[in-house]
Amino acid sequence: MNPDASPEQISSAPRASRKGLVIVYTGNGKGKTTAALGLVFRALGWNWSVFMIQFLKGKWNTGEKLLVTHFPFPFEIRSFGEGFTWETRDFERERAGVMEAWNLAEQVIHNGDHDLVILDEINYVLSRNYLDWERVRNALQNRPPWMHVLLTGRDAPEAAIKFADLVTEMCCVKHPFDAGIKGQPGIEY
Ligand code: ATP
Ligand code: MG
Repeated sequence: MNPDASPEQISSAPRASRKGLVIVYTGNGKGKTTAALGLVFRALGWNWSVFMIQFLKGKWNTGEKLLVTHFPFPFEIRSFGEGFTWETRDFERERAGVMEAWNLAEQVIHNGDHDLVILDEINYVLSRNYLDWERVRNALQNRPPWMHVLLTGRDAPEAAIKFADLVTEMCCVKHPFDAGIKGQPGIEY
């Protein structure tokens, strides 16, 4: 707990009065991971502790990872699945990376040390059958009642959408990639 936080900040969002939500951000449009990070920003303001597990590690370092190395926020990011390619044939190797991420996710959810847990790109992983929804559902059902869990990624399975309390689908209206504009730091990563 931040010792400089005002009494209002500390007492206005206690776990006992909270209804933990399962949130899904899905769809083909850009904005799922960045919307998750927006929620992190809000959560940190209430002195919550946040854990983000990235199931598919990106190629680049990201602004969010750089930020947490510069500032000691109660926000941890762990990335898995190095070497994952979208057209991979090496299913077993990819699955091993996903399972490593999932084992940590299960542990973090079970331990109950964090107010908000983000499983970044897990929807994609579920939709490609790298991980069973039943396992994820079981962990979500047995989590502390105050814990919010956010699942991001394209192609969220129907079962996850049914189970969640809040589902938002990002819809792509326009993307600079289509005009040949490459990904840039601060926007894409
Ligand atoms: P962001 O991390 O920027 O919020 P996202 O989480 O919604 O994006 P992902 O599905 O994780 O998007 O895809 C990762 C990358 O693909 C991002 O760099 C993003 O800009 C890019 N991307 C997302 N949507 C599109 C699209 N419709 N066309 C092309 N590229 C896209
Ligand atoms: Mg993303």
